[in-house]
Amino acid sequence: MRLVFLGPPGAGKGTLAVRLAEHFSLAHIATGDLLRRNVQEGTELGKKAQSFLERGALVPDDLVIAMVKERFRKPDAKKGFILDGFPRTVAQAEALDQVLSQMNSLLGCVAYFETSIGTIIDRLSGRWTCTQCGMSFHVRNIPPKRKGICDRCGSKLVQREDDKEETVHRRLEVYEQETAPLIKYYEKRNLLKKTSGDRPLEEQFEFLKNLCLESVA
Ligand code: ADP
Ligand code: ZN
Repeated sequence: MRLVFLGPPGAGKGTLAVRLAEHFSLAHIATGDLLRRNVQEGTELGKKAQSFLERGALVPDDLVIAMVKERFRKPDAKKGFILDGFPRTVAQAEALDQVLSQMNSLLGCVAYFETSIGTIIDRLSGRWTCTQCGMSFHVRNIPPKRKGICDRCGSKLVQREDDKEETVHRRLEVYEQETAPLIKYYEKRNLLKKTSGDRPLEEQFEFLKNLCLESVA
């Protein structure tokens, strides 16, 4: 299975991607998590990406595309993957098409999380993120078992800098301008499957599980 999760910040892509990747033994490739890890570790890529992340702007396509290509080379990606947060621009989608055709493979489907603004704001303002594994929690909807600690890996949870209100507005603008055109891009290729990002977690999980099972590639 090779899937893309598309939708605005706060749509639930990451939360569902983690769970579905575990369920189907797929690689979860989250470009936001990979970039944040590079920033934490102070790599060359991290140094270049940091200011974009802080502003809620997109990291330049060439950097992100190179990072994803490298990630695809890891053995776990051969079994299939969920791309979460990539592609985010038409140029990235074109690069993805190219890479996949070089690997002689195709996307199975693109799940588009159509999400209301109320849900987005509620999810981002209540979100706590693991500093190590990237898992997301929510004060009310998905509280961690122990306050401030990740259920999955035991590391510390923090509120992301870019989940602050001003930056959230910027990220939503960037989403509308740069990423929303991908809805048409994948519609034209008959790959787009819509789901409501407002659905509660369990219901969304069931829906996406069936989508994965039906997906052709
Ligand atoms: P969310 O989906 O909640 O916005 P992510 O963790 O996916 O959060 O992304 C956080 C930030 O990482 C983005 O605002 C952007 O700066 C950067 N980023 C992530 N993926 C990409 C990408 N494909 N292209 C460019 N920048 C990206
Ligand atoms: Zn964790």
